[in-house]
Amino acid sequence: MDDQAAAEIEAVREFRERLSLPGLVDIHTHFMPDRVLRKVWAYFDSVGPLTGMEWPITYRHEEDQRVALLRAFGVRAYTSMLYPHKPGMADWLNGWAAGFAARMPDCLQTATLFPEEGVETYVREAVESGARVFKSHLQVGDYDPNDERLDRVWGLLADAAVPVVMHCGSGPQPGKYTGPEPVGRLLARHPRLRLVFAHMGMPEYTDFLDLADRYHGVLLDTTMAFTDFSEAFAPFPAGADAKARLADLGDRILLGTDFPNIPYPYLHQLEVLEGLGLGDAWTRAVCYGNGVRLFGLDLKDMA
Ligand SMILES: [Zn+2]
Repeated sequence: MDDQAAAEIEAVREFRERLSLPGLVDIHTHFMPDRVLRKVWAYFDSVGPLTGMEWPITYRHEEDQRVALLRAFGVRAYTSMLYPHKPGMADWLNGWAAGFAARMPDCLQTATLFPEEGVETYVREAVESGARVFKSHLQVGDYDPNDERLDRVWGLLADAAVPVVMHCGSGPQPGKYTGPEPVGRLLARHPRLRLVFAHMGMPEYTDFLDLADRYHGVLLDTTMAFTDFSEAFAPFPAGADAKARLADLGDRILLGTDFPNIPYPYLHQLEVLEGLGLGDAWTRAVCYGNGVRLFGLDLKDMA
């Protein structure tokens, strides 16, 4: 652990002590097979020249070092968000994620899906084998969540009350099926689905807050929202109204970070949440309590 890491660990510890937090629950972190992660990193390395928006990965470490760092930050539960960009990949990713969660008991077993033949079978198998959370990425996967091949899958996940973290906002790049409209149609058909809008629905924050108001099983994750990096291209609406909505939804907003693929320190995400000025109870719920409740975590067993 170098000096910079030690200083950040200390600063995160101070954040937790200030808020009397026994730990953090981070619903949106990325662990995936090494060669897939290298491809993701290569993508972020290339977006700078393409878009003029540099995206230097802060935590480009070996896997065990990344896990050790999260634990040193006091993260008591996290996920291994992974997602396919084509058919024939999701089942394999799910197998890897189950193995990862077996190796790392503090990781919530994560799974993913794609509209393809056999999807219902492997989603059911993932749930039966202990998947606690799913990830659906509409921009990378480039699929319609209303694809009929997924219809029974959403029903199955709603019945099992397994949350699905969905990248459905149009940031940082829009896709054919991103934005509030496709997801709004999905929720109209599956109102009990426990969708978690990743990135607070960035940049269509207001539309996704509207959907969360309407569907009470819906949650939002904070991933990259409110950070200096995101505020530069997709600012959260200014003013008291939007803040009041965050306060109202304080029991349905979950800490997410995108660790390790972030172009700034982990601490920054925590500080910007505290800096919203919504109070210690709000920040405590978002960074810990809501995740503990959603997953029924018994963290005494996870010391
Ligand atoms: Zn992510």
